[in-house]
Amino acid sequence: MTARDPVADLRRIAFLLERALESTYKIKAFRGAGSALLGHSPEEIAELAAAGQLKTVKGVGDTTAKAIAESLAGEPPAYLVKLEAEAQKPLAVGGEALRAALRGDCHTHSDWSDGGSPPAEMAFTARELGHDYLVLTDHSPNLTVANGLSPERLRRQLEVVARINERLAPFRVLTGIEVNINEDGTLDQEEDLLAELDVVVASVHSKLRMGSAQMTERMLAAIENPHTDILGHCTGRMVRGRDGRNKEGRPESTFDADAVFKACVANGVAVEINSRPERLDPPRRLLRQAVEAGCLFSIDSDAHAPGQLDWQPYGCSRAEECGVDPATVVNTWDADDLVTWSLDHSYRPA
Ligand SMILES: [Zn+2]
Ligand SMILES: [Zn+2]
Repeated sequence: MTARDPVADLRRIAFLLERALESTYKIKAFRGAGSALLGHSPEEIAELAAAGQLKTVKGVGDTTAKAIAESLAGEPPAYLVKLEAEAQKPLAVGGEALRAALRGDCHTHSDWSDGGSPPAEMAFTARELGHDYLVLTDHSPNLTVANGLSPERLRRQLEVVARINERLAPFRVLTGIEVNINEDGTLDQEEDLLAELDVVVASVHSKLRMGSAQMTERMLAAIENPHTDILGHCTGRMVRGRDGRNKEGRPESTFDADAVFKACVANGVAVEINSRPERLDPPRRLLRQAVEAGCLFSIDSDAHAPGQLDWQPYGCSRAEECGVDPATVVNTWDADDLVTWSLDHSYRPA
């Protein structure tokens, strides 16, 4: 007789830790314990808890055993109560209406590349956040540091996505990729695969310091590629270290922003407003310039863990501040409209 589900409590704890950019080590403990419990019947778990033996389950440690026991006793775990209190404070001020208008997220990673959770967990969480769809955009082959997907692995992922969709309908996982823009402006994935995917985010990840003229040409070639739907984190800057804390950031790449945004308009390509707290890319002056140019936008989390899917308020706040019209944000559109637009970028919802 228990009023609470310990797996749900462990997932919620992990979500809130991810949202707060806490250490991967801590998060893994809670996600791991949650998965471990799923391998046992609720009766078994209750018996182990009654005998004080929860730690005999592989993947359950001191802290997680305590949380599970509290949950089984019908109490919210103390660890969760503390996190919920901290999470009361909104992540960002402003942009609330825009966040409410978002129907999905067009840039997310799973553990198939450098994310922390399987595609299904990302999808479940996106649905819990109120989204209608999630685009799964794992990295492309040449980004070996991020375990980029070979054509074979991406084809296999498409089959996995199809199965998740059978389970989660009407919620939709749209197929996608965050494809590297190679130094010569070509895209780092097979042509026929890019054509098959619902949404292609194209981003620069290497040689970020090349000269402005060369970088501009590189970006223009990618934007003019008919498969590119969204230009990811256009300057590549880091306002702080990747761990989100005190480490050094990284300066913006230099390019002719006027030419780049004009090309986005001409090709119907959306400029990403990347919500990761260490990126916040493009910076405000460039975001305003893109608004002036008449660009489309996509406000994305670039989540590498389920809790990071809740970071879109950072992007929404900046978008509102810089005068972005919600109608020009492609992920305020429904999934059908988004996919129709992505075909040749000429379509706009009525
Ligand atoms: Zn990226
Ligand atoms: Zn990414």
